This record gives sequence, structure tokens and C-alpha cells, in this order.
Amino acid sequence: METSTEGAAEAAGGGVADVDPPVVGEQAASAQDVTVAAEARVAIAPASLSPSRASDFMQCPLLYRFRVIDRLPEKPSEAATRGTLVHAVLERLFDAPAGERTAPQAKSLIPGQWDRLRESRPEVVELFADDPEGERLARWLGEAEQLVERWFSLEDPTRLEPAERELFVEAELDSGLRLRGIIDRVDVAPTGEVRIVDYKTGKAPRPEYAEGALFQMKFYALVVWRLKQVVPRRLQLVYLGSGDVLTYDPVPADLERVERKLLALWEAIRLATETGDWRPRPTKLCGWCDHQAHCPEFGGTPPPYPLPVRAAESGGASQGRMGPD
Ligand code: SF4
Repeated sequence: METSTEGAAEAAGGGVADVDPPVVGEQAASAQDVTVAAEARVAIAPASLSPSRASDFMQCPLLYRFRVIDRLPEKPSEAATRGTLVHAVLERLFDAPAGERTAPQAKSLIPGQWDRLRESRPEVVELFADDPEGERLARWLGEAEQLVERWFSLEDPTRLEPAERELFVEAELDSGLRLRGIIDRVDVAPTGEVRIVDYKTGKAPRPEYAEGALFQMKFYALVVWRLKQVVPRRLQLVYLGSGDVLTYDPVPADLERVERKLLALWEAIRLATETGDWRPRPTKLCGWCDHQAHCPEFGGTPPPYPLPVRAAESGGASQGRMGPD
């Protein structure tokens, strides 16, 4: 019987490389995956998973622990913050009538969305605290403009009427595991066929890593399937960094495989929570990790692990939801 979290993560399909850096605010939004009652230092076994946290555990169980259980702070990065800004612009562009969804119109939204981001996430201001002349900020905003402009070579928003944007979805599997996440865009054809779209501000992965990139999309497809009893017709990843579009048309067997993988992952996380065995798994992605100072692989010491363990409370919707019916 497999007892190590590392082995269990492998069994769950470890090594998924979702190389886009985490989006600003994502960590806090998903912290309910496993929580620690700060006053009692009690680790609570997991009751739900998001694609990002599932990928964290598959990448490195110790990274998952640092983010979800210890909730160690992470500095905002220019890349992640730019991703958040570009996502906001692409979402808001669809407020305009179809004929006005042009590249200049989209780029004109950037300053206002940057103001809003600074208001809602004041910590991002520190990114440019050492840039009194504003040169780096201007360059960064210019890069955001390029990403927005590239989108128009990949999709035509004048011909799209999204059914949903930035859609929070949550569903409970028969096993009791809750899955949740936020889908960038859902398109529904007149025939009822559903397309799930996700924007990435990084570059498309090499073909050998495409399966890892699609994991998040199959996760969302499984949630939609469970909520609506409809298997999405198409999953579409739009890579603004390289100008590529990756698509996949899932079948039920794909999503059943993802469900089995998530259940194995959930069990591995539960076991790690119980035993405190959160093993580091060093890879080249350690370069993105904010927690090297606490990581034994880099000479650091993790914070004391909270004990004892108790089961997660079952709160939350039992049926899940996907926007208004
Ligand atoms: S530095 Fe690498 S091995 Fe250590 S916690 Fe971060 S991702 Fe894991």
C-alpha cells in the first residue's frame, strides 16, 4: 500500500505543469481547500479542490502545504499581476456592444482596470515602488497592451456573445469531494453546445506538456458535466503570450479519468494532512516558488506543523451551482 504523499501524488498524475504563475488573489480565494484554525493550530482535512491547488499538490506537496495550510504570504509578481489585469480587460470588453469590441477600445480599458486592481489589491502597488520615474510601469503596461492586442489575432469578440464570464462553478461529487473554480468564459452555441475558454498570458506549452495544460480545462469540464449533465463540446486555451490556441474535445471517458485522478489526489492530500508528511518535490518550477526560505531543499525549515487533525466541516452547497439557471 502506498503511504508516501509523493508516491500518492504520482499515482494521481503528478508532474502537471501549469506554468502560468498564480493569478493575484487566487491563493486567498482557494484557501478553504484546507484551513487551519489559527488560534488552535489545527489542520483540517480537505473537503474541496480547485484546479490551481490540485496542480500545486501534484507539482510539490510541500508547496501545497505552504500555500493552503500555512498560508505563507507570497509577493505579487509582475507576470501574475499583468495576467490579472489582462483578464479583467478581456472580461470587461464584452460589456460594450459587439461592434465596439475593437483592439483600441480594449486597450483603452487598461488604465481604468489597473486603477481598480490597485484599489482592490493594494499590495500590487509595491511592484513599482522603486520606479519613481514610472519607466518600468510604462513598459509593463505596454506589455499588457501587446497581450490584449494579440488576442484579436486569435479570436473575434465582435462575433462572440459569451454566456458567462469569470464564472464561479462548484459541484460536489458522489464521494463528497467538492470541486470549484472560476472559468474565464463560457460560450453556448444555439444548438446548446458548450465551449469553455481560458486565457493564458504565458506561452503555449510544448506538445509533451499539453496534457498538463489541459488538466485545468478537463477539471472545469467535469464540474460543468456534473452540474448541467452536459459534456462541454470543446475546451479552448488561448495563449496570448505566444499567439496559440489549444483545443480539446472531451468525451465522458476523459472526464471520468479526471474524476478518478482527483479522488486519488484528494486521498493523498488527506493522508498528508493526517501524517504531516508534505514532501518537497524540487523541479525547475522551484524558480517560481516564493518559499525557498522555508524549504528543506534550499536549506530552509518549514513552520511547525499543526496537530491534531480533525475532519473538515461539511459546510457549503451540496448541489453546486453554475450561474443562474
Ligand atoms: S522550492 Fe521547490 S521543492 Fe521547495 S516548496 Fe517550493 S516548489 Fe517545493
